[in-house]
Amino acid sequence: MSIRSYDEYLDTTMPRRSNTVSEELYTRGGIITERDPDFCIVRLRMPAGMVTPAQMKGLGEIAAKHGIDNVHLTTRQTMEFPHVDTSILETLVDDLAKNGTPLGAEREEIVNVTACLGNRHCKFGIIDSVGLAEQIDKKFFGKELPVKVRIAISACPNGCESERLNEIGITGIQRPIRDPGLCTGCGTCSYYCREKAIDVQDGLVVVTTAKCMECGFCILPCPFHIIRGSPPEYRITVGGHRGRHPLIGRHLIDVKSQEDVIRVVDKIVYWIYRQASSGSLLPEQLDELEFDEFKKTIAKMIEG
Ligand code: SF4
Ligand code: SF4
Ligand code: SF4
Repeated sequence: MSIRSYDEYLDTTMPRRSNTVSEELYTRGGIITERDPDFCIVRLRMPAGMVTPAQMKGLGEIAAKHGIDNVHLTTRQTMEFPHVDTSILETLVDDLAKNGTPLGAEREEIVNVTACLGNRHCKFGIIDSVGLAEQIDKKFFGKELPVKVRIAISACPNGCESERLNEIGITGIQRPIRDPGLCTGCGTCSYYCREKAIDVQDGLVVVTTAKCMECGFCILPCPFHIIRGSPPEYRITVGGHRGRHPLIGRHLIDVKSQEDVIRVVDKIVYWIYRQASSGSLLPEQLDELEFDEFKKTIAKMIEG
C-alpha cells in the first residue's frame, strides 16, 4: 500500500471550501485556513509589535464591522483575527491595509520582525531595536524564500526576544573598557556582574573575557566612571529555530551600525534565496554545509 503525503491526506479527508474567493488573495501568507475551510485566520503585519492608539481603535472597529468576536495575540508580536468567513476576506484585507495594519506573512517568506522595546525605553537597552525592526521590515518583510525566515532583535544580551531561537537573531552588545590606573578597587562593578566575569585583583579590576556577555551592566554602577562602554555593537546569529526541535543560532558576525546589520541581513537573505532549498529547515541545511563554510561565504559577500 502506498502511503500518501500528509498534505495529500489532509486534501482528501478535510472538507472543501464552498465559498468563492480570490486565489491570489487566499494563497497569501497572512491567511491561514481553519479546520472548516470556509473560515480562516487573518494574521497582521506589525513590526516589533508596535501599534498606535488610532490603529488599535481601527482594529476594534474593523473586527466589530466584520463580526469578529476575538483578536488573538501571537508569539511573533502581531495580532490575528480568528474565524474569518472567507467570503468577506477582500473587504477585510482592504480595511486592514487602510488602517496601517496590513496582512501579515506566515509561509516560506520573511515573517513579522520582532523586537524588544530597546534603548528607547528599557534601562538595559544598548541599541534601538524597534527602529532596527522597522528598517528590516521595510526592506525584507514578505520576501518569498525556499524556507520560512524569522528575524528577532533583543537590545541587550538578556535576550527577552529569544532572538537566538530565530533563523536570524540580532543582539545589542557593549564591551566594558576599564582604566586600571584609576580604579579604586571598590568592587561595585564586580557586585553587579551576573556572570562573575569581573574581579578585583590587587586593587584593580580584571575582566575575564571568556565569561563576559558584553551586556554593559558593569558600566553605569562604577561610582568613579572608570569603566567606559565601547560603542554599541550588533551581534548577528544565524540558524536558530523554535518549535519541535529548538536550536540556538550560531554566531556569524558583530557589526557596528544599523546600516551594517541591513547589509549583512541582505547577504544572508540572498544566500537563502539562491542556495537554500525547500523541504528542510535552514539549520539542517547549514549543518550539511558546515557553518564555517557559510560564515566564509557571507564574509566574502560582505567584502565584495
Ligand atoms: S532584551 Fe534587554 S533591552 Fe530588551 S527588553 Fe530585555 S532587558 Fe530590556
Ligand atoms: S559587560 Fe556584563 S558580563 Fe561583562 S563584565 Fe560587565 S557586567 Fe559582567
Ligand atoms: S566600580 Fe569602578 S572603581 Fe570600583 S572596582 Fe569597579 S572599576 Fe574600580
